[in-house]
Amino acid sequence: MTIKYVYSFQEGSARMKNLLGGKGANLAEMTNAGLPVPPGFTVTTDACHAFFKFGNRLTDEMVRQILAALRQLETEKGQAFGDPYQPLLVSVRSGSVSSMPGMMDTILNLGLNDETVKGLAAATRNERFAYDCYRRLIQMFGNVVLGIEGFQFEMLLHRLKAKLGVELDQDVTAEGWRELIEAYKSCVRKNTGREFPQNVYEQLKLAAEAVFQSWNNQRAQVYRRINRIPDHQGTAVNIQSMVFGNRGDDCGTGVVFTRNPSTGEPVLFGEYLINAQGEDVVAGVRTPQTIETLKSAMPEMYAQLAQVCGQLERHYKDMQDIEFTVENGKLYVLQTRSGKRNAQAAMRIAVDLVNEGVLTREKALLRIEASHLDQLLHRGLDDAAVQDVLAIGLPASPGAAIGMIAFEADTAAEWKQAGKQVILVRPETTPEDIHGVLAAEGVLTSRGGMTSHAAVVARGMGKPCVCGCEDIRIDEERKQMTAGGRSFSEGEWITLDGATGRVIAGVVPLKEATASNELKQMLAWADEVRSLRVYANADTPEDARIARGFGAEGIGLCRTEHMFFAPHRLEVMQRMIMADTQEERRAALAHLLPIQQSDFEGIFAEMDGLPVTVRLLDPPLHEFLPKLSELQAALSEADSEQEGERIKRMIRKVQALHEANPMLGQRGCRLGIVYPEIYDMQIEALFKAASAQIERRVEIHLEIMIPLVGDASELKLLRELVDEVAEQVLGSDKRRNCRYKVGTMIEVPRAALTAKQIAAHADFFSFGTNDLTQMTFGYSRDDAEGKFLAHYLDKKLLANNPFQVLDSEGVGQLIDWAVTAGRSLKPKLKTGICGEHGGDKESIAFCHRVGLDYVSCSPYRIPMARIAAAQAAVEQGKHADSSQTAKVV
Ligand code: ADP
Ligand code: MG
Ligand code: MG
Repeated sequence: MTIKYVYSFQEGSARMKNLLGGKGANLAEMTNAGLPVPPGFTVTTDACHAFFKFGNRLTDEMVRQILAALRQLETEKGQAFGDPYQPLLVSVRSGSVSSMPGMMDTILNLGLNDETVKGLAAATRNERFAYDCYRRLIQMFGNVVLGIEGFQFEMLLHRLKAKLGVELDQDVTAEGWRELIEAYKSCVRKNTGREFPQNVYEQLKLAAEAVFQSWNNQRAQVYRRINRIPDHQGTAVNIQSMVFGNRGDDCGTGVVFTRNPSTGEPVLFGEYLINAQGEDVVAGVRTPQTIETLKSAMPEMYAQLAQVCGQLERHYKDMQDIEFTVENGKLYVLQTRSGKRNAQAAMRIAVDLVNEGVLTREKALLRIEASHLDQLLHRGLDDAAVQDVLAIGLPASPGAAIGMIAFEADTAAEWKQAGKQVILVRPETTPEDIHGVLAAEGVLTSRGGMTSHAAVVARGMGKPCVCGCEDIRIDEERKQMTAGGRSFSEGEWITLDGATGRVIAGVVPLKEATASNELKQMLAWADEVRSLRVYANADTPEDARIARGFGAEGIGLCRTEHMFFAPHRLEVMQRMIMADTQEERRAALAHLLPIQQSDFEGIFAEMDGLPVTVRLLDPPLHEFLPKLSELQAALSEADSEQEGERIKRMIRKVQALHEANPMLGQRGCRLGIVYPEIYDMQIEALFKAASAQIERRVEIHLEIMIPLVGDASELKLLRELVDEVAEQVLGSDKRRNCRYKVGTMIEVPRAALTAKQIAAHADFFSFGTNDLTQMTFGYSRDDAEGKFLAHYLDKKLLANNPFQVLDSEGVGQLIDWAVTAGRSLKPKLKTGICGEHGGDKESIAFCHRVGLDYVSCSPYRIPMARIAAAQAAVEQGKHADSSQTAKVV
């Protein structure tokens, strides 16, 4: 049986993305929906796999099928490939399964040679046009297929224009192009030792092979790694008859988004160039005109375009990014795909599509890229503080960014590695700069429009970007930028405002973000759908206030140790640690008590009516003392004997507290058991605070959390302590009004395994997934991330960093087990997660699946967690639905 490697556009559909690639599938879909698509066919990703398998060559069978499809195309067009009178010209376009904009190669105008170019000139009665196409072909072919660097051609073009005394490509005559073509040909000869192929079939074959080959070029590989696109997907090749935007002034080419991808506003957004071809718009050859201006320049064309945009959007139920070309007043669509957008626009578009009746709420929720959501809550510029505006460019991707100027992608990446904040400043970016964009806080370019590479990539990544900022001059050689009459060197600080296009000297302070109405709407829909509750990790009344503002339904983790790090508190804490006797220790703790109490009062007030989970002291005591090396340095500088003695004492204490492995040492409840007076004080402060606030009519739901329990006996002992202190502080009367729970963190594997025994003494379990991950893997986080983890990820031994994405296979199994075991004893046992994973969408989906009651994450991630929790619920509902219908059938 022969494999079908080639599908005409009529044979495909949007559902065949894996086989036809995104571009091919959508060209087929549009063809069948009756849109004006130039006819053509797609060589499948199966062919791509076979191509690599058989030594990077098209097989005879592939060639046979391609030629058969080409014959059909000739009939349809009434032209013939390589015909000297009516030559058929085609483009050979890459088209991967997942969108990888600009990462791979495309060649236009294939089928031209010294003979057919004359035929094209005669048939169109436009010599200048024909030779323009030919010189473009040699350049693209030379670059993509023959591997000649693009700048060699650019240089020759530049030299020609200088000689002719013209500035724009449009002003070059047919005669000029003919001269350039000769120069290009000898450039090909010089670089490759062979002629530019005159045989059009050879052109086609080499071009298709080059496109397959481009799947493995470096920038495509980098892009795949960043976007987690599997290497085995492969690309399809689309062979399509040409339409020409470069035939005259009633021709043009452009890119249009059906809505504004940076604000979401429902207006056409894009750019076009009159009398231009293909990539001229994206490449930033000339600065294009906005689609707005098309309305008056070519009103009929605008109306056609608007109609097509509306049709495509309704068809795909999403904002589209469309390539079009106009040939002699007729519109053609060359590509459509879901448009990249930033988080703000995504929100607005999703809400609008629901309101327009195009999408259901559930589908709209699934559209939100939860991990981009925190961008919406990133701060903007404090306008009052903006003084030194250097230049204004195009506001290509909103948000504010502060960083040091880097002129090269490599520099940006290096500096980021070294922990610096960078702004990548380039004349324009190309796909080779992708690692620099990734590393930068924001991107500034002096050329290119709102649909230029820099703009598209930055929006996709949610990075602030200002592009086409023609008021700045970049001298790459000397690594200098001039703007507003001043010059800036690499490493100087600037601020970008992607929402207005402003480039500002120095560092401008940022201010809090406010949620848009669309965000609020989407969150309200999310809240209706989700079953997981979302709590916050908050250590201070201020954190609690912010968290509640973002919709926190409680505090899942209040870490008490953070309260002791403030300057004068730390001294008291150190006095407590330095104490030699229990009495001394109690005296120091007595000073800490009122401080703790007032912190708790503040937090209770902010969280009035909502649960507050407070974890008793967790870290090993040495963390509160200075480092040994610091003390030794201080000792050599001590100016009195008394001071020297004091430092020596501290050194002895630090040495006494030294542990070979503090992560597994005297910390958590082990500390509370050995020094009960510490927990005693904390519990007393908690109940005193509760008591004081109950008198002020604050509703208290206190949950006291014991860290690092590994055996039920530990929890049993400390629970008794809590109950005793509660009795002492509150008396039986108040106890009735102060609802409190005692629970534990499950963060030692043994605690998970013995969850049933532990549940006997616990009102709730909170999975401390940071420690649980460390102890399950046997990795200490700092050592892992500093040493081998990157290597593991590189070698794909682990799919994710388990400290970022919960390891559902291993750690997750412990969680699942503990929940089931705990609930077998106490069906209503409250369960949640309070590690950093509580702010990661994949981990949140896992928490939903195992039936936890809540996730707890940092305040700024709460809106993201609300959306992710809703998405998990919708996804699960979908599966439940489909399994139901499956049963019915
Ligand atoms: P990319 O994936 O880099 O956008 P494309 O294959 O979409 O590459 O093509 C690059 C440019 O050439 C686009 O502007 C596209 O519209 C244009 N183009 C591709 N094929 C044709 C064609 N058959 N006729 C006219 N223009 C084309
Ligand atoms: Mg394209
Ligand atoms: Mg812990």
